[in-house]
Amino acid sequence: MNAAPADQIRLLDLQAFDSKLDQLAHRRRSLPEHTEIDKVNADHTALKDLVIAAQAQHGDTTRELTKAEQDVEQVRSRAARNQQRLDSGAITSPRDLENLQHEIGSLAKRQGDLEDVVLEIMERLESAQTRVTELTARLEHSTVVLTEAEGRRDAAFAAIDAEVEKVGREREAVAAVVPADLMKVYAKLRETQGGVGAARLFQRRCEGCRTEFSITELNSIKAEPADKVVRCENCSRILVRTADSGV
Ligand SMILES: [Zn+2]
Repeated sequence: MNAAPADQIRLLDLQAFDSKLDQLAHRRRSLPEHTEIDKVNADHTALKDLVIAAQAQHGDTTRELTKAEQDVEQVRSRAARNQQRLDSGAITSPRDLENLQHEIGSLAKRQGDLEDVVLEIMERLESAQTRVTELTARLEHSTVVLTEAEGRRDAAFAAIDAEVEKVGREREAVAAVVPADLMKVYAKLRETQGGVGAARLFQRRCEGCRTEFSITELNSIKAEPADKVVRCENCSRILVRTADSGV
């Protein structure tokens, strides 16, 4: 394949832009913020689940308390009714009086037991409330941490993307003047040779694979016409001869 020496040299500029774009894409993918955000996100999701569970626990305990308070109220009003009947003097039979007094006594005991239950539930409700408050605060904190990390990531993205756009424009300007057939070979080599399709010949070395050529090899490269597209025998990349190649 033949190409004007100037176009071959342009390939080195193109390579520099492409390598730069590859670096930028790599930097974009491997920002430390990605790992950080993944971790904070996992914590955040776990905390959300914990908050939901704690709120459910709080709701259940609240309902349990209402029920227990109703039980106390029922016993209290029944005892009050009995006391009223007793105080009214309407009951005169000693047996009925005795039964009534006995029931009033049982109800008082029952009310005491139920009030203990209410107290126990109130304690659990307080712990449930504390847990909801604590977990909600942690969730809010994790939201702040997440938003902050996402902000840093987006700022890094914006800076990288702006540079990608700038380098991309410069690359296009060069790519537009390189002949299509040379571009095709270069692009193919970039795919198969780890992103480097064209390398400079410098101080007897291929700068693509760092192979040092023997004098004989160097002489045969020298013997090639300037518009011949030379390929490195070791890595098969396009070997570009420049003014400082020493050939
Ligand atoms: Zn090479």
